[in-house]
Amino acid sequence: MNTQPLRTTVIGSYPFPGWLEFACQYLHNFGEADREELKEDAVIAAIHDQIDAGLDVITDGEQARLDFNLSFYGFLEGIELEPAPLRRFGPPAHDQRGKHKIVGELRAPRGLGTVPDFERLKRLAAPILSAFNSQSPITVKTSVPGPYTLSGRLLPNKQYPDRYALTEALLPIVRAELEALVNAGSREITVDEPSMSCYAHREDTKRFVDIFNRTVESVVGKCHLSTHLCFGNFKGRAVGPRQYAPMFPAFLNMNVDEIHLEMASREFAELEIIQTIAKTKDVAVGIIDVKSYYIETVADVASRVRSCLRHAPAERLSFAPDCGLSQTARWAARQKLKNMVAGVKLVRKELGIKS
Ligand SMILES: [Zn+2]
Repeated sequence: MNTQPLRTTVIGSYPFPGWLEFACQYLHNFGEADREELKEDAVIAAIHDQIDAGLDVITDGEQARLDFNLSFYGFLEGIELEPAPLRRFGPPAHDQRGKHKIVGELRAPRGLGTVPDFERLKRLAAPILSAFNSQSPITVKTSVPGPYTLSGRLLPNKQYPDRYALTEALLPIVRAELEALVNAGSREITVDEPSMSCYAHREDTKRFVDIFNRTVESVVGKCHLSTHLCFGNFKGRAVGPRQYAPMFPAFLNMNVDEIHLEMASREFAELEIIQTIAKTKDVAVGIIDVKSYYIETVADVASRVRSCLRHAPAERLSFAPDCGLSQTARWAARQKLKNMVAGVKLVRKELGIKS
């Protein structure tokens, strides 16, 4: 159960400031200390926008993952970055992101980089958070991709003949990362497995749940653990049939405190599923469409929150955008978050819930 009924939260990513994207094209001109400064300034900008919106939970916006070497794959040994995607032109799609070749045993001796990211976020957010009302503490959250999702950009080879073999090789790496985060003091972690939601329609959902539960088994009960199940958002495009029916009831057995679902871009189809989830878990509902430049109004948000309350109690409900905001222009992301929080607070007020 959430400490704040009708909690407002986000999925990990936030748009990069324009200057950061520009700097990324010339990273070779920057020294190591300059790059650290770039990351810090970008995280400060993301923290600022999220605090300004009034969110209960914030992230570092994944601002520090600004190039391949700083991405999760940059931390993996045994892979070689594909020099260029197979398709470089034409309308945007996920095939325009390179897949990495495996050249040795998959290892991550330095972890996946989320611990220094968490520590940076905590350090940079601390002075801002302490200036706020201590009655309403803001939680900092870390996102880690699950092993099945992470395996999606690796090419199987003789040693790892298919996606499941890759997943099994990555599973202990992700598990160790979660343990390291908990040991570093992270109290709220999302294990993102959107590939499971995208491919549930054609894969064995019980097998997915088994993979997920083995990944998180050592941190269950040691932090607020959630998962994010969307239908893909690279360049604002989905990749799976946008239906939750194939995932349930199997996914109810995922060992998590909270499940996040993409609802806004699907015009709230299958919203009744939150009733079933809320019987045993918290449910975070995506009520902001990250793919649309229609800016949801405060009244839109309040009406969506009221619809959710017809299916689940306030203590079980959190509200978030459908996915990370990295593919949404910052001006829109900022306004969408502000309106989301204002709409949720309006309903809290109607119900006499303290904000
Ligand atoms: Zn997503």
